[in-house]
Amino acid sequence: MDDIIIVGAGIGGLTLGLALQQAGIACRIFESVPDIKAIGVGINLLPHATKELAALGLEEALARVAIETRDATFFNRFGQLIYQEPLGRAAGYDHPQFSIHRGDLQTVLLDAFCARAGAERLITGRHCLGVEQDETGVTVNFSDGPGGVNRFAMRGRAAIACDGINSVIRKQFFPDEGEPRYSGVNMWRGVTRWKPMLSGASMVRAGWLSHGKMVIYPIREAGADGLQLINWVAEIETPNYRKRDWNRAGALDDFIGPFSDWHFDWLDVPALIRSSAEILEYPMVDQDPLDHWTRGRLTLLGDAAHPMVPRGSNGAGQAILDARALRDALADGADPAAALRAYEAARLPATARVVLANRATPPDAILREVWRRTGDRPFTHIEDVIDVSELRGISERYKEVAGFSHEALEGP
Ligand SMILES: Cc1cc2nc3c(=O)[nH]c(=O)nc-3n(C[C@H](O)[C@H](O)[C@H](O)COP(=O)(O)OP(=O)(O)OC[C@H]3O[C@@H](n4cnc5c(N)ncnc54)[C@H](O)[C@@H]3O)c2cc1C
Repeated sequence: MDDIIIVGAGIGGLTLGLALQQAGIACRIFESVPDIKAIGVGINLLPHATKELAALGLEEALARVAIETRDATFFNRFGQLIYQEPLGRAAGYDHPQFSIHRGDLQTVLLDAFCARAGAERLITGRHCLGVEQDETGVTVNFSDGPGGVNRFAMRGRAAIACDGINSVIRKQFFPDEGEPRYSGVNMWRGVTRWKPMLSGASMVRAGWLSHGKMVIYPIREAGADGLQLINWVAEIETPNYRKRDWNRAGALDDFIGPFSDWHFDWLDVPALIRSSAEILEYPMVDQDPLDHWTRGRLTLLGDAAHPMVPRGSNGAGQAILDARALRDALADGADPAAALRAYEAARLPATARVVLANRATPPDAILREVWRRTGDRPFTHIEDVIDVSELRGISERYKEVAGFSHEALEGP
């Protein structure tokens, strides 16, 4: 009854559970699926997020399963180098940038939560149907999994919706909002075991969305065979898309065309794509920022609060920053409703800026600028197209908006 109820054991829900446990605040996490499986592909954690995960004592566990990313490298669709900059510790941050399989990240969080808080505090097969509240607490209603017939009601001091992009609680708060907003870009994703490319810890962005853009980076160190697990994402502007389902299989022929001649000295892109064991397809979607997340003892966190298009490596990171802010607010005061309002005041405007920046000026605006100025043709010297200081400026402005400039990360 005195517990904080966390709905959803994704990246945000598990990080919040760990942060509350660390602060001595009792919580329980309720997750829809009966078995948490290592689903997904690659995800990036930038230094603002790894700083918080280090404060939770997780840096070593993450370093064991992730790649410590060293550079961001941008090419046009002809494989010509546009711009490169160091990342994470290589860029002088106190904390690394990790590129990691989402399943590995979730496993590290899950194992730590069960070891520290007790496995009985994570209850799977509980699909949230809706929430109610009164003067003394909240009641969260669940079924035994999506479509399940058995019903359960849980009482708590407050409830936090960490139930992702299709949040049931967000829909309850905002019934007229409609489906997530399609950005006009569809994505095909996969992972391939492949030999290390460039620095062996490079995050590559190449091409542009109108013709076809690729994001490619390793997420697991090489084994005895010398092959890393390489995450790749193909992004193409198209009016055609289907509703987001993290498990939807994609078809090679729907997207390989624009990349079929990308045989570069640093990577044979079509060969990498064709060697993927599995292809997933999902649309790039987000939602307009909301004007509030909190109603009394209920609030939203992570993708439930601020879904964003994945163009700045910030979806997981912003959920992790939310968890830290909410923990601080709850630790500060006895009144949960006031704490939830303080959390919202700290995080809603900040995340709204990231949602909008991801639409208009994410780091890959570097690629857009070169595409525009060259008319999508090869260049002789990049300096004739754009000055390196302008490219750096695009990257630095995004770091400021998303909260991982060097200045923002000074201090505890
Ligand atoms: C299966 C899956 C695969 C993903 N793969 C990738 C990927 O490859 N790359 C990437 O960048 N991002 C991926 N994401 C999204 C990414 O995890 C989030 O954008 C980001 O980490 C923010 O985390 P979150 O906790 O807000 O949401 P999520 O990580 O999406 O977690 C939401 C959690 O809530 C649970 N849930 C949903 N509805 C209910 C309900 N009604 N009741 C109880 N629990 C519920 C979900 O099962 C999930 O565990 C994936 C998300 C999921 C769920």
